[in-house]
Amino acid sequence: MDQVRNHVIVLGSGNAALSAAMAAADHGANVTILEKAPEPEMGGNTRLTTAALRVAFEESKQIREILDKQFSDVEWSNIEIEPYPQDNFIYEVIHKTGHGRPNRELVAWFTSQSLDIIHWLKERGVKFELAEYLSQFDLTKHQTEKRTYRGGVVIQSVNGGQGLVSPELAYAQSQGAVIHYDTPAVDLISNEKGHIIGVVARQSDGNLKNFYGAVVIGSGGFEASSARRSQFLGPQWCDVRQRCVKFNTGEVLFAAINAGAATAGHFSGAHITPIDPDSPYIGGLDTCEKTNRLAFSWGISVNKLGHRFIDEGSHWNNQIYVDVGRSLLEQPDQVGYQVFDSRGAQFREPLYQDQKQFFEGNDLEELAKQAGIAPEAFMHTIKEFNKAAKHNKNLYDPTILDAQATKGLDLPKTNWALPITEPPFSIYPVVPGVTFTFGGLSSNTKCEILAANNRPIPGLYGCGEATGDYFYYAYPTGSGLIKGAVTGREAGHNAAHYAQEL
Ligand SMILES: Cc1cc2nc3c(=O)[nH]c(=O)nc-3n(C[C@H](O)[C@H](O)[C@H](O)COP(=O)(O)OP(=O)(O)OC[C@H]3O[C@@H](n4cnc5c(N)ncnc54)[C@H](O)[C@@H]3O)c2cc1C
Repeated sequence: MDQVRNHVIVLGSGNAALSAAMAAADHGANVTILEKAPEPEMGGNTRLTTAALRVAFEESKQIREILDKQFSDVEWSNIEIEPYPQDNFIYEVIHKTGHGRPNRELVAWFTSQSLDIIHWLKERGVKFELAEYLSQFDLTKHQTEKRTYRGGVVIQSVNGGQGLVSPELAYAQSQGAVIHYDTPAVDLISNEKGHIIGVVARQSDGNLKNFYGAVVIGSGGFEASSARRSQFLGPQWCDVRQRCVKFNTGEVLFAAINAGAATAGHFSGAHITPIDPDSPYIGGLDTCEKTNRLAFSWGISVNKLGHRFIDEGSHWNNQIYVDVGRSLLEQPDQVGYQVFDSRGAQFREPLYQDQKQFFEGNDLEELAKQAGIAPEAFMHTIKEFNKAAKHNKNLYDPTILDAQATKGLDLPKTNWALPITEPPFSIYPVVPGVTFTFGGLSSNTKCEILAANNRPIPGLYGCGEATGDYFYYAYPTGSGLIKGAVTGREAGHNAAHYAQEL
């Protein structure tokens, strides 16, 4: 079978795949989207997000342009938005979270497109608003009416991830794209030259069908496969709860590897956060972001043995939540306990009110017993911590890294180290929850998938979490969707161009 001209097959219906579908359709290609999930569960991890978006910009008016007329001049004068130059974005991906490992060319490229892609999405029907969640906004707004947004994550799409995938799909369909639900790609089809000419998919009736065209892989990572998590991330990842959709099990990545694609990036790394221990094992629309427990900054975290295991205040919670999540994997029974006194408790997110398992009262030792923490060791930890923090007199200030550190502890708390002394006390158990994997296929800034010799495999493109070398160890909050849209647009455009030139 020869390659079919002007056809593009897009795998997945998350933000990356749908960006590819929109771009390919804009370019005049006949676009077929194959989605593994049934229709009610389409949209991948994208749909589970609050859709916080990290964008590089020089002036706050560039953000106001995105928001159109949502604020009057008077209202806008009470909003302060700190510029976030591209260099900051690059630094946070490569150095602050990536330990220097991410591919510099790819990171420089996708971050350079971060503002432009928002306008591109907006032109295709996505609506945006200021991000209240995780944006390090100024909590002193309770005292002053001024709101400060900083750290680059200042916007989100209206209606979260649903507000991305619904208009994206509608736009792609309006340009002629056709979507098949419940139709997972199971293999890639190559011709005798080794060019990719299509995919084999299993249809909802159970039968296999070949779809021909240039292929864009937008099928996410392998985070939902406990077998692959165990194989690549390690056995301690086998049984963790999943914040992600159940469909991202990586079969297309491995089909591409079998077809000659090289792997790239942090194959033993994944995004993981502390979550409510009653979270379901598999993520869904009803749980979404509700399971995160990220108030560890305002107290201490201990394990079952009563020992602290991480510097809870080394940085903002959204900078270190992956480190905290990962450290839980190493604790006995993979459980941690966030301990607050009444001063810390007031800064817990409202999500904590939904948690069923928690212990509250005036007697810390009794609470430890109820929670299943070794009481003697726990009380020793509290005593040592309080001694090391007793010089810190200021109350918690969530708007600054306050440098109120412990003194003399082997495992310090670097900021917000107030003694745990003011009842009532509370203890919240937390467990690790995996979000998505970092390893993926090797690709370039044209989103062509590369073979081991770094040459593109003709007919094969990739986007979103399916492509590696962007994030290692962690990622700066709000960069996954931006990377997905930027790589999706590029992959779709180039796949369409390729398919038209055949
Ligand atoms: C709870 C949660 C909150 C998050 N919050 C944010 C946030 O606020 N901001 C941010 O930037 N990032 C966030 N992320 C990360 C973000 O979700 C990802 O970076 C992004 O969604 C990846 O997009 P994607 O299109 O590559 O993958 P996905 O959106 O996961 O889409 C993959 C698609 O491929 C489909 N698929 C899988 N296998 C096959 C197959 N064999 N054949 C066909 N289709 C297949 C899946 O069903 C799915 O539709 C969050 C993630 C989670 C889980």
